[in-house]
Amino acid sequence: MLHVNNISFSYNTTPVLKNIDFTVNEGEYLAVLGESGSGKSTLLKIIYGLLQLKEGTIFWKDNQVLGPDYNLIPGEKYMKYLSQDFDLMPFLTVEENVSQYLSVFYPEELKARTEELLEMVEMTSFAKTKVKLLSGGQQQRVALARVLAQEPELLLLDEPFSHIDNFRKNSLRRRLFGYLKMKKITCIVATHDEKEVLPFADRILVIKDEEIIANEKTETLYNNPKSLYIASLFAEANLVPVSTIKENTDTKKQIVVYAHEFKVSETSGIQVRVINSYAMGSYYLMEGVTEEQSLFFTHPKSIEVGKKVFLNVSLEIINKRIE
Ligand code: ADP
Ligand code: MG
Repeated sequence: MLHVNNISFSYNTTPVLKNIDFTVNEGEYLAVLGESGSGKSTLLKIIYGLLQLKEGTIFWKDNQVLGPDYNLIPGEKYMKYLSQDFDLMPFLTVEENVSQYLSVFYPEELKARTEELLEMVEMTSFAKTKVKLLSGGQQQRVALARVLAQEPELLLLDEPFSHIDNFRKNSLRRRLFGYLKMKKITCIVATHDEKEVLPFADRILVIKDEEIIANEKTETLYNNPKSLYIASLFAEANLVPVSTIKENTDTKKQIVVYAHEFKVSETSGIQVRVINSYAMGSYYLMEGVTEEQSLFFTHPKSIEVGKKVFLNVSLEIINKRIE
């Protein structure tokens, strides 16, 4: 179990992280979400011991491992870190890059483990290829296999799929997160991609303006985003005054409504005039305007620009968000 205890950090005089405090349980996948520059990479580097902590402490299984008086050599044996710019041995083959890190004694076992890992990252056919000849995405997959080879108890991944094309991302994510759960490896993943988070993460930490603004179970946070910022990390969303979508209410509150939570009606609801239509594949993302604001909603078909339609939100959603 990892406990990050009230850490604050700055590279120079501007604070990057303030009073960051959280726990990751054994076998848990914690996603660290936040926009670019919010300090996700910095946080992972601190945990790995690459940056000197001046304030706060870090405990691993009840032992203090980092803090102001600790000069830990980066890379404690139990943890592995995959940086945003993975470093491989360019002149060695894919196979060699991975097997180099395996701590097994028998050659047959080494071979089997290397094959298993390469299969997981879908790089089997490149086993004998020198890494310098691979694309960025392929190198990233080898780097992933390499950190896994070392069987860490705690894995820190910094945007692990950033260079991998969409074509492969989905299957690779399923394989990786399935593998980590099976091996009960605790992991912290820095990302801004909801597809890496919603189907797999146990918990989500959101960082904004140097601080943690949410630390909740994935489902809870998605279903009840406390702000438009948090909701927007998952999907297109709107902030809507309750008075415009609920009758007989005098609250001044605004609630988050995801674009897909609006139902289009021809007869009643919030009236909007369509100003944009974006094809998203299986649905259309529409933009409409009321007198006061612009609203995003989804619809199975495109709606003509200029047309007036009505939007509705279920009472269940409204009541849940008002709380
Ligand atoms: P993220 O990974 O969320 O995009 P980073 O942790 O990389 O964010 O960066 C957080 C902030 O720290 C940014 O404002 C960035 O410019 C700054 N920063 C990152 N690395 C350094 C560094 N080595 N020296 C000075 N400032 C840095
Ligand atoms: Mg980063």
